[in-house]
Amino acid sequence: MTPELQEAGARLLAEHQKKIEQEVTSGGREAAFGRLLKHGTPDFAHGVALYLDDITVSFDGFKALNALSLAINVGELRCIIGPNGAGKTTMMDVITGKTRPDAGTASFGSNIDLLRLRENDIAQIGIGRKFQKPTVYEQLSVFENLELALAADRRARASLFSRLSGTQLDRIGEILTLIHLLPEAQRTAGLLSHGQKQWLEIGMLLMQDPKLLLLDEPVAGMTDEETERTAELFLSLEGQHSLVVVEHDMKFVDQLTQGRKTVTVLHEGSVLAEGLLSEVQANDKVVEVYLGR
Ligand code: ADP
Ligand code: MG
Repeated sequence: MTPELQEAGARLLAEHQKKIEQEVTSGGREAAFGRLLKHGTPDFAHGVALYLDDITVSFDGFKALNALSLAINVGELRCIIGPNGAGKTTMMDVITGKTRPDAGTASFGSNIDLLRLRENDIAQIGIGRKFQKPTVYEQLSVFENLELALAADRRARASLFSRLSGTQLDRIGEILTLIHLLPEAQRTAGLLSHGQKQWLEIGMLLMQDPKLLLLDEPVAGMTDEETERTAELFLSLEGQHSLVVVEHDMKFVDQLTQGRKTVTVLHEGSVLAEGLLSEVQANDKVVEVYLGR
């Protein structure tokens, strides 16, 4: 990086930092820092990462989720499929605190009541969410985007604008390799392909080392090659993180489940079927409402 670029980057980062701080003082995105201990640390000793039970969400009487129950194990990669309107995104909204259900329970680990936490707290406690559209800082470089993601972690923020520690640099390097963007580290994020932007955003989530990652249609709009690489990326994350992946691309789901993992089919706000991909694909009800003949 040239000194000019470094300077320009530092200026941009400082502007973002100021914005973040303003949001904090106005009670924005990270206003919830410091209250989490009150709720304890998530306990994963029982092997459960996420547990939803009997969740119902109504919009003007219409049940987007209807007594939905679902359990995701620690380190599990679970694919969720189902027709449009099945409630997949609403389910993620409930887990992340964006939507409050009318009834039901939702826990993270065995002890954290997600329904009593605010959206900011939930992100902070180890649940990362990838929305459908990529949202990266287009004018910053790939590296700077990851650096900023570190800044969202309060522990790292103090040191950010002085110098990155060796550990932090190593972590950025690791993530860059994982998301196949090491050669693009100094490239402006806005110039990346759609698929690369999606990977960058996933990398930004990974900088916070979430225990649970929610990915809503992550390969929509990607090329076949990008889709395949994304599957490889998710498979490499499995085990260290729990992943919930909502997708319509059955080839991608097949690659992720490798003939042995459970797939959940949602329909009209509840679980219609659960089993291996081959099993749910042979299920008459699933064929009728979703996959077709
Ligand atoms: P999916 O992601 O499976 O396609 P969604 O969770 O987005 O489904 O939507 C489930 C149903 O809930 C749909 O019928 C949708 O129109 C409805 N819905 C979702 N969000 C809202 C909302 N904020 N207000 C009213 N209806 C909503
Ligand atoms: Mg959706």
